[in-house]
Amino acid sequence: MVEQHTCTGVLPGWEQVDRLVADAYEYARGSADGAVADYIPALAQVDPELFGVAVAEVDGGLHGVGDVGVEFSIQSISKAFVYALVCQALGHDAVAERIGVNNTGLAFDSVIAIELNDGHPMNPMVNAGAIATTALLPGGSAGEQWEAIRAGLSAFAGRPLELDSAVYRSEAATNQRNRAIARLLESYGRIEADPLEVVDVYTRQCALRVTATDLAVMGSTLADGGVNPISGKRVVSATVCRDTLAVLAANGLYQRSGEWLFDIGLPGKSGVAGGIVAVSPGKAGIGTFSPRLDPAGNSVRGKLATAHLSRALGLNIFASDAVTEPRSGGRAP
Ligand code: GLN
Repeated sequence: MVEQHTCTGVLPGWEQVDRLVADAYEYARGSADGAVADYIPALAQVDPELFGVAVAEVDGGLHGVGDVGVEFSIQSISKAFVYALVCQALGHDAVAERIGVNNTGLAFDSVIAIELNDGHPMNPMVNAGAIATTALLPGGSAGEQWEAIRAGLSAFAGRPLELDSAVYRSEAATNQRNRAIARLLESYGRIEADPLEVVDVYTRQCALRVTATDLAVMGSTLADGGVNPISGKRVVSATVCRDTLAVLAANGLYQRSGEWLFDIGLPGKSGVAGGIVAVSPGKAGIGTFSPRLDPAGNSVRGKLATAHLSRALGLNIFASDAVTEPRSGGRAP
């Protein structure tokens, strides 16, 4: 088979990937654009210079440069993996009907998006849809739902993830807006459980601690049809991965999802602590961490590093090499 580096091909060899991860790190490190999130007080304390880039290949190969072992709160990136767990439990149609898959075109914490859509949360990657998704998790109590999330996200990462209690407490004390969103969803009959208990579980899921390497492995599990490439354990089905990646492509970077897809061409998800996960189906997961964010809440260096890797490794899912030889059975022009 001819080796090619488009999305339909394979990754280059291990050493070349390793070198390109280092190149991506150097390329993005030059930017000091953006600002650290401060609407959650604990996040404002972070060192803005922290930066790490990690790649986890679906065959288990790991690459990393910079602060790839530093823990930070997963924040909105949790939405992708909780959505996958809920799809696994309830099935494609039930979740699509209840939550939706279309972009709001508005900020992740938009209230007006709910009003404009008759109380429909629109998609699971904005706060309204994520809170409604968490509410769907099976379990008799908020405590059981939280344990299911912690266990499920740990299975995606291949190691036990812990709560950052300082970040959790800080957000729980200041998340009036998310509580308002949950109450609004309740008023439209979109949440059946106690809305404040659901927001509490959601706030905990956002405060789980991960590293850039964890994000790469979690992304690689989605790239690998639901099997964690390090532990070898199945976490969700291949169908759930396909659905989750489609939702990420449309909504993972909020109202900037179109730009992200145009520039980078991969399903991805960002969080306000500075993490980004990107997924190259069948090949690898990319995890980056850098706390300075663009105005939509997406890590600036993370976007630059992921864009560099997507180009250098030929990951863009829309890119293909021109076929200049007639395929067997095909006709020459
Ligand atoms: N926990 C954060 C919130 O609900 C997550 C937002 C994000 O990462 N974009 O506001």
